[in-house]
Amino acid sequence: MEYRKLAEFYDFLEKTTSRIEMTNALVKLFQETPKEIVDKVVYLSIGRIAPEYTGLDYNFSEKSAIKALSKVLGVSEHEIQKKIIETGDLGDAGKLLYEEKGVKPKEKLTVEEVYSTLKKIAETTGYGSTKKKMELFITLLQKASPLEVKFLLRTIVERLRLGIGDNTIMDALAIAYTGKKENREIIERAYNLTSDLGYVASVLVEEGIEGVKKIKIEIGRPIRPMLAERMAIPSFILQKLGGKAGAEYKYDGERIQVHRKGDRFILFSRRLENITHQFPDLIEFLKESTPDEYILELEAVVIDPSSGAIRPFQDLMNRRVKYVTRFHIMMYPIAGFLFDIMYLNGEDLTMKPYPERRKILEEVVKTTDRINLATRKVVDNVEDLESFFLEAIENGCEGLVCKSLRKDSIYQAGKRGFLWIKYKRDYKSHLADTLDLVVVGAFYGKGQRTGYFGSLLMACYDPETDQFKTVCKVGTGFTEDDFKKLDELLKPHEIDHKHPRVNSILTADIWYEPYLVLEIAGAELTLSPVHTCGWDKIKLNRGLGLRFPRFTGRYRFDKKPEDATTEKEIIEMYKNQLQIRV
Ligand code: ATP
Repeated sequence: MEYRKLAEFYDFLEKTTSRIEMTNALVKLFQETPKEIVDKVVYLSIGRIAPEYTGLDYNFSEKSAIKALSKVLGVSEHEIQKKIIETGDLGDAGKLLYEEKGVKPKEKLTVEEVYSTLKKIAETTGYGSTKKKMELFITLLQKASPLEVKFLLRTIVERLRLGIGDNTIMDALAIAYTGKKENREIIERAYNLTSDLGYVASVLVEEGIEGVKKIKIEIGRPIRPMLAERMAIPSFILQKLGGKAGAEYKYDGERIQVHRKGDRFILFSRRLENITHQFPDLIEFLKESTPDEYILELEAVVIDPSSGAIRPFQDLMNRRVKYVTRFHIMMYPIAGFLFDIMYLNGEDLTMKPYPERRKILEEVVKTTDRINLATRKVVDNVEDLESFFLEAIENGCEGLVCKSLRKDSIYQAGKRGFLWIKYKRDYKSHLADTLDLVVVGAFYGKGQRTGYFGSLLMACYDPETDQFKTVCKVGTGFTEDDFKKLDELLKPHEIDHKHPRVNSILTADIWYEPYLVLEIAGAELTLSPVHTCGWDKIKLNRGLGLRFPRFTGRYRFDKKPEDATTEKEIIEMYKNQLQIRV
């Protein structure tokens, strides 16, 4: 398949502001894709060559890309730099230079060649790798047309900025290969169990939707995490769970999915990045305490080993380093609180109810002062729930996760549902909980803040329409350092029009590809004529806005834009807020 087709697809996507057009373009692309390379096209459509959890990145700097371009075109690096300033983008600069030079490649570039070369580039590491990577990339540039150069450059420096979400890809796969969008649910379950859309797509084209139904959990492939809904009133929580709940401490640490086979361990973060290297001590503790083959989940926290007391979340952030040394291990001792098990000795446990999974966990884990099960109590009345909640807070936790004990309490991979309900301390304040919102735009600052943005346009996520809907403009809570940091973080994601997946009435001065998630606090949610979250769902021609929004200082790097607070949750929070006031 010619790479030209993919480049034209990217080009179209860059111009469209409609999500439906985006899906249709993807359907067309899949229909033109030969069976054998559908997985590669899925990865390349989001600028990758493997699922995110593999961590396989190109590690190719803009400087190297400029050097490669300079070698192929015979123009100075300075001249390329000038073009980048002129156009504002490396890809556009490359395209323009190719056009000016009248480059007409003799050979055609294929998707297969682009994929295998990019893969080699990503796999080349160690001494002399920069030069080798560059030589490989040059072989692609030599065969590329101006449009192809634009997207090859953006791909290699990991700035494709198209923002196609998983949901759009799944919709398109269902339509292109089964003719029915409804089959997306089956595709989604397989994806939730494997976190690899390329793999699911290749099973779909080879074995059809029946093959996809048979996809199973495997050690080494992360399961997409099950998530909790939130509620602010204990009696409602109990009612929702059928009068009885397994209440567990909600530890404020880092969620880790542990995969073990013998001595081989892989640890995945909440956003399914491989973080094995960050916790060598935890692995040692697990070796002693747990069986040989499993997938389980725990919350890692820093403790004070002499008292066992949990230390604040900020301490754990000190373990977020590339190289964990003995210093980190000594200064920030880790303990793991296990709260679920999804796979044991070849058996998938995700369809078993939570009480059974918890029982298995209790049976197979030898607890120590560093490896423990989440403290839990079965509660069936408000008083017990309240006092257990206060006990959790007293012991350094955020609150409780109340879990359904019913027969249908399976592990719902990748889903946020009412089988788990979180009850946090913040819910006691006027606004229930902080919101994790995505930056989708910015407004220019005035006075002191000239040069930086004045406020950011923040949005929640609506999985049903796969859109980001605005909730507030936030301009407070930022320090000088935050302004600088945000400028650096957001610049690479700037786009020249509203992203097709963003639903906004307000027109921002700068638009961004949905990428960065920030924690935002506020006074209350109110009906709003300008924000699109909950539009028409509570009142006609009104959405929901957050009053007095403030950045809490917490960057949610552990969340992807699709993990942001959902529109549904915000609507729930709005309703709960009304109930509290009554
Ligand atoms: P939050 O920002 O409130 O942590 P979240 O979006 O990261 O929320 P939710 O599914 O909404 O995740 O809330 C559950 C989170 O609480 C889990 O992701 C996990 O990290 C954490 N947690 C702590 N203790 C437990 C527990 N005993 N059972 C389940 N999750 C727990």
